[in-house]
Amino acid sequence: MPFFTTPRSAQPATTIPITYVDILYDHAGYLRANNGLLGDGNLAGKSVAIVGAGPAGLAAGYLLSSMNASVTIFEQDQARAGGRIYTWQPVPGNPALFEMGAMRVPPSEQVFQYFAKLFRVRPGGQFPDPGKVFTQIVFENQTYDWHPTDLKPPAIFATVSKAWDNFAGSSTLQSLTQNLTDPSTFGAAQQTWQQLIYGPASPGPEQGYSTISFYQGLVQAFVENYQAYGLQQPWGEEEFALFGALGLGSGGFGPLYQVNFAEIVRLVVNGLETDQQFYPGGLSDLIDGFLYSQLPNGNMLTSAIQFQTPIQSVQALQGGQVQVTPAGGGAAMTFDAAIVATTTRSMQVDMGLTDPPSGALVLSPDQNTAIREMHLMNSSKLFVLTRSKFWLPPAGQPATLPANIQTDGLVRGLYCLDYGQNTEYGVVLISYTWGDDSTKYIAIKDPAQRLSILLGSLQAAVPDFVNALTAQILPEYTFMIDWQDQPSYYGAFKLNYPGQDPLNQILYNQFLQSTNGIYLAGDSVGWCGGWIEGALQTGVNAAAAAANQLGGNLFPNNPMTQNPSLYQYGP
Ligand SMILES: Cc1cc2nc3c(=O)[nH]c(=O)nc-3n(C[C@H](O)[C@H](O)[C@H](O)COP(=O)(O)OP(=O)(O)OC[C@H]3O[C@@H](n4cnc5c(N)ncnc54)[C@H](O)[C@@H]3O)c2cc1C
Repeated sequence: MPFFTTPRSAQPATTIPITYVDILYDHAGYLRANNGLLGDGNLAGKSVAIVGAGPAGLAAGYLLSSMNASVTIFEQDQARAGGRIYTWQPVPGNPALFEMGAMRVPPSEQVFQYFAKLFRVRPGGQFPDPGKVFTQIVFENQTYDWHPTDLKPPAIFATVSKAWDNFAGSSTLQSLTQNLTDPSTFGAAQQTWQQLIYGPASPGPEQGYSTISFYQGLVQAFVENYQAYGLQQPWGEEEFALFGALGLGSGGFGPLYQVNFAEIVRLVVNGLETDQQFYPGGLSDLIDGFLYSQLPNGNMLTSAIQFQTPIQSVQALQGGQVQVTPAGGGAAMTFDAAIVATTTRSMQVDMGLTDPPSGALVLSPDQNTAIREMHLMNSSKLFVLTRSKFWLPPAGQPATLPANIQTDGLVRGLYCLDYGQNTEYGVVLISYTWGDDSTKYIAIKDPAQRLSILLGSLQAAVPDFVNALTAQILPEYTFMIDWQDQPSYYGAFKLNYPGQDPLNQILYNQFLQSTNGIYLAGDSVGWCGGWIEGALQTGVNAAAAAANQLGGNLFPNNPMTQNPSLYQYGP
């Protein structure tokens, strides 16, 4: 979920959290301290089924295989592992790539960094976020320039930018982030975060972030308490419209106004918006690392994957075993444990986990409610390949065409991406949208038609760019995705509505409470939906729980030691 890029994203991260505020457990530190092993038990002869070959399922499979468990990963896709890490190579053999899902990673994704280092997956500098490259902003049919040398976004953003920077840069949030860098200060972080998310004893004006929407949070801060944020007057209609349409020039927050305020503050505190990195080799390099690295038993995880195998049910059997049944009449299979690492919507829609036809519940009623209710965001992307990197100026000259455009129109976010000297092609992410902005054009299924409508909507505002782009497009390489329209996903990423954090807590902790050998993983059950990190953290959790159940002899301070009652998120 890389939408919360502010000018701060252009700055190198100086404070890098080692955990996230809702978790307060150092997953990467545990793996580093124990050579990537969860325990010193030998799981030879124990079998584990994993549903889903996304980053959560692969991380779990990798860790369990490293302890010699016999792992089978069931993946519904024909031949592709990676899930919402979906790196598409439009011209085979050419390094130009379309990242249909995840595309940028900040240093605070620590478990990602752990595995990236292990698999030698390296970033190639900062992602071309707004303001870091020459950016044009289109608001109410006016176009504004934002050069990388400008310290601030264009003047129209002065009020919203000042307010937000004062909020995000407040000593409370800054010290919260600082307290996530060292286990000895996790306790202080816990106290502060509890005060912010829900304070039943003394609800004050700056409390209850889990129970109010992002919009209400903005009203609370910049209308009701505007002076505290250095403003001369409260935000009015113009500020809310501007912030909703374009944020801080970094992409509009309107589609997010309904999610809970804590979800937004988490992005700030957890460092997810800071120093986002570009991976020119494609984020699929991480997936390849899981698939093709040699395991202790000499195998590779790739041989554990059964493609074209959608799972339609996962059931607990008497005696502690688990039965996994493929769709389409395949024979049911029995395992010692199972990890379900898909979106919560696939858990409900495809696997009927919440309402098993047999009536024999797999999860507790409150876990079922959480799966049914938690909100997933919509998101769409449309990419084109261009004959050249037409937006780049001649060496040593200033840019005349933008490499990034943010609009209040249909396109929303446009990014020009340079995949290095070994490709002459340019990659343009023409439109990256969330929520209503993605739903708006979902009925247009023909990529050429959608492209034409999107370019038409930009023509008057940035004619030079659209003309240069149009002359360069290779139309046969237009590729788009609407994640909510994808079977087996049914949504892009989790973002809780007000009041849903308690449900999130129930699902995140399911691995600690399960007694039937079935464990949930994936970013939909994690605390940073829309970030690979949430998938990896929950993959590590589920693998630890399965290993623990199977006699894996976990090391001290293992993931099973996490506290399921760190916070009270609501009434
Ligand atoms: C548009 C978009 C942009 C994003 N941008 C970023 C970003 O810039 N940075 C970042 O860090 N993160 C980003 N993310 C988030 C990141 O992609 C996800 O957090 C991560 O991929 C989730 O991993 P997962 O393993 O939980 O699930 P997934 O990646 O969804 O994997 C689940 C797997 O399960 C399979 N499956 C589902 N149902 C079944 C079934 N019944 N039987 C068998 N197999 C099944 C699916 O085919 C899939 O392979 C983005 C996501 C999206 C959608």
